[in-house]
Amino acid sequence: MAEELSAQVCVVGGGPAGLTLGLELARRGTRVVVVEQSGHFNRSFRGESVSPDSVWLLDQLGLLDQLRGSFLEMRRMEITDGGRTVLTADFSTFPYPHPYPVELPQPALLTVLAEEGARHEGFTLLRRATAVELLRDGDTVTGVRCSGPDGPVDIHAALTVAADGRFSKVREMSGLSYTKIPLDRDVVWLKLPFPEEWDDTTYRVRIKGEHHGLFIPTHPDDVRVGFNIPKGGLKALRAEGIGALHRRLDELAPELSDAVRAEIRGWSDTSMLDIFTTLVPEWSMPGLLLIGDSAHTLSPILGQGVNHAIIDAVTLAPMIAPVLGDGPADHAALMPVLRDFQQRREGSIARSRGLQLRQERMFALSGTMAVAGRRALYRLVDRSPALKQKILAGAYFQLQEPLTAPGRPADRPTPTKAGV
Ligand SMILES: Cc1cc2nc3c(=O)[nH]c(=O)nc-3n(C[C@H](O)[C@H](O)[C@H](O)COP(=O)(O)OP(=O)(O)OC[C@H]3O[C@@H](n4cnc5c(N)ncnc54)[C@H](O)[C@@H]3O)c2cc1C
Repeated sequence: MAEELSAQVCVVGGGPAGLTLGLELARRGTRVVVVEQSGHFNRSFRGESVSPDSVWLLDQLGLLDQLRGSFLEMRRMEITDGGRTVLTADFSTFPYPHPYPVELPQPALLTVLAEEGARHEGFTLLRRATAVELLRDGDTVTGVRCSGPDGPVDIHAALTVAADGRFSKVREMSGLSYTKIPLDRDVVWLKLPFPEEWDDTTYRVRIKGEHHGLFIPTHPDDVRVGFNIPKGGLKALRAEGIGALHRRLDELAPELSDAVRAEIRGWSDTSMLDIFTTLVPEWSMPGLLLIGDSAHTLSPILGQGVNHAIIDAVTLAPMIAPVLGDGPADHAALMPVLRDFQQRREGSIARSRGLQLRQERMFALSGTMAVAGRRALYRLVDRSPALKQKILAGAYFQLQEPLTAPGRPADRPTPTKAGV
């Protein structure tokens, strides 16, 4: 016999989207159960880049102070192409309340969200519980069956929210259609001790020909390195041996050569990220909604996955909390709200996706003329602070209103652009 639980909302997945939603609902007095298949929050290669807009949101939610000491504030971005710097961005020149992205390991973020949630009576986090089946009444989803540490648990809820990530099982079980669009290249991630000669407040993007690498300072004292390989190219790279990986990195960052050989001794020291985006035409059906990566998987460029996961949750909670009564679910009232949520969020996600795809195409250019054109374009952007800001605004500043006067914080801005 399955154990029976009931809640107004059941959230599947205790990642950034699911836990932020759980907390924001519980704060509004909604009874919510978050089910998470893992027993811990340790994730060594997951989104750790939090965009300025999400930093601002975490501040608005009263969580930023608790997270201080767990993140690195990033001040600059530097792109080099063929060994020469072609573009730099100094985030301090952007006139927003929170102009800086931060590098915040997910375990720290998720721990704070879970601890904050646990302060509220209506919040339950079930760990080591995996959603294995949707409960249904005709075409309506009425909850999920989980396989828990002590056996099956049925969670009955007016609304089930799938926040179970890029390979969402709930999306699969729901029958909601989606298209997975593979990008041309995948990324191999690895971690190295932070090099002494670098400052840990700069994002470094190194391009050479059609190869590029991202070098991202990682709290407390590492650097995450992500470099591109052709789609499905890991097998070929592995066949060449680990020396081939060392040589690939030498091309991009010769100063890391010793560290790469000392730290990366085998393929188990790396993690491959299959890069794709997912288009889901309908995020909802009666009783069910997709958010975060399960609704819109993005590529890692400019760290947008965590950003949109948090914005989804913060947008959604105030929309649904008033519609969820304590009695039986009113799907006629809920469905328009779920559709409205998707409409509010889609434009913002499309802007980030467009920026990522354009950037990925730039990285992938090959041939003398195309590479020369790319460098010229980067240099052109570098000369125009206004253009730089406009381009980055698509990823970094969709929520925050600019400050009224340079260097003077405006009153707390009212978030409007993404519908929060
Ligand atoms: C290797 C890697 C590197 C990445 N790098 C970056 C980056 O540099 N910058 C960036 O912004 N983003 C990056 N991302 C993406 C980023 O991690 C995601 O966009 C972000 O975490 C999405 O949050 P989410 O809450 O929607 O999903 P997730 O963080 O994926 O959380 C989903 C949660 O659901 C749980 N779950 C899954 N299935 C079930 C189930 N059936 N039952 C119960 N629980 C379940 C999982 O255990 C997980 O905790 C990376 C992702 C990967 C995999």
